[in-house]
Amino acid sequence: MQNTKLAIVIPCYNEADMLPTSLQKLWKLFDKLIDNKEISSDSFIFLVDDGSSDGTWEVIKKAYEESKSRVRAVRFSRNFGNQAAIIAGLENAHRLGVDAAITIDADLQQDINKISEFIKAYKDGYDIVCGIRQNRTDGFFKKICSNSFYKVINFLGVNIKPNHSEFRLVSRRTLEILSNYKETNLFIRGLFYDLGLKTKDIDFEVTERKYGESKFSFLSLFALAAKGIVSFSVRPLRIVFFLGFGISFISILLAIACIVRLIFHLNYLPGLELFETWETFAAGMQILCIGIIGEYIGQILTEVKARPRYITDEELK
Ligand code: UDP
Ligand code: MG
Repeated sequence: MQNTKLAIVIPCYNEADMLPTSLQKLWKLFDKLIDNKEISSDSFIFLVDDGSSDGTWEVIKKAYEESKSRVRAVRFSRNFGNQAAIIAGLENAHRLGVDAAITIDADLQQDINKISEFIKAYKDGYDIVCGIRQNRTDGFFKKICSNSFYKVINFLGVNIKPNHSEFRLVSRRTLEILSNYKETNLFIRGLFYDLGLKTKDIDFEVTERKYGESKFSFLSLFALAAKGIVSFSVRPLRIVFFLGFGISFISILLAIACIVRLIFHLNYLPGLELFETWETFAAGMQILCIGIIGEYIGQILTEVKARPRYITDEELK
């Protein structure tokens, strides 16, 4: 079998502090993989600067000049978000004719020593190899939110492994298929388990970020979670329907109880206080349901507009 031409795709947002250390580690790994004939010598790293405001692009340009053939990069005109940066990297890797691409974060919190296992799995015929986190370095609150998110999204019928994020290898065939997914609202990790391709999971340990801090706020994570759910499941809409049905049914029972109470003076049956509490609850539920429907309408709107997922400002070929 011909040697694998690999691209390592890295989204970078304000990673000027982190990137030099990460690149150094990756070059060492690259040398080892090439020496062991695991990847071909024309493999490269594809860096996507997601509109950084620190010196990330300067770090990338320096790396490009120092090792021309091994670094390719694009810079977005502004911050389009990590999902857009990843898809841009994968699209470019595909355009540059790679056999496989691996996505990994710029802080290398994922275990780069597993990359060799990823490539071996690819050579064994797997189209997709997903890294599954065995631990978390996040705080208590983020951990709870993340665990709940995977429980909810699985309950809603979305086929995605808990603790799988963006550390993954995809084959050229997968990239080909992915190029037909034109959606604006991207939740990349939701796509892969649904393609029906040969997929392998590989466990890895997360390490602490060495420099800089997480680029995700609670709100941006919440937005990503909502995008993921709305992109892959219509069950929340069905739940809204059943909720409406249930609330209406209970309201009718309450109304009957109230009428019976008035006619027969049965004071132990529900009175006005219960009605008021019920009304407040039902009003809250209505607003919640409108919010859920609103998420879907918002996504339909952005999909219909079909604006570009990102705008490239500069490219290092
Ligand atoms: N990132 C990005 N655009 C953003 C936010 C993050 O390209 O708007 C990149 C970031 O530079 C990193 C990866 O996405 O390479 C994951 O980010 P981070 O390490 O901050 O996430 P966490 O480890 O907290 O999940
Ligand atoms: Mg990180």
